[in-house]
Amino acid sequence: MDKCIFCMIANGEIPTNKVYEDDRVIAFYDLEPQAPVHVLIVPKKHYESILAVPAEESCVVGHMFQVASKLAHELGIAEKGFRLVINTGKEGGQSVPHLHLHMTGGREHGWPAG
Ligand code: AMP
Repeated sequence: MDKCIFCMIANGEIPTNKVYEDDRVIAFYDLEPQAPVHVLIVPKKHYESILAVPAEESCVVGHMFQVASKLAHELGIAEKGFRLVINTGKEGGQSVPHLHLHMTGGREHGWPAG
């Protein structure tokens, strides 16, 4: 998809602070971190949101969570805990229309989320 910021990051068209990459996903630090550790795990294929992932491609979502788990260990937040969030749509607080999983850690998280 043209002009999608996360597609451009995934394609290497614009630089990012990358922490992980494979053939299906890329993970990089959020530009405006909301916690001491704030990483985005992003499928390379463009899906506007979780709602756009067809059932036959849903394994990519599991892979995103698997990568988050691996990174939580590598980034030192697995033991104390962290949060995984997929904002979806306007009321869900989604600002970039390309599916992504937020992983935040390194501080206490309140509930309910804002
Ligand atoms: P959301 O509001 O759930 O769609 O999250 C989008 C996230 O992408 C926000 O936390 C932004 O700070 C982050 N973001 C936007 N552009 C970039 C970028 N170029 N590199 C890293 N993070 C970005």
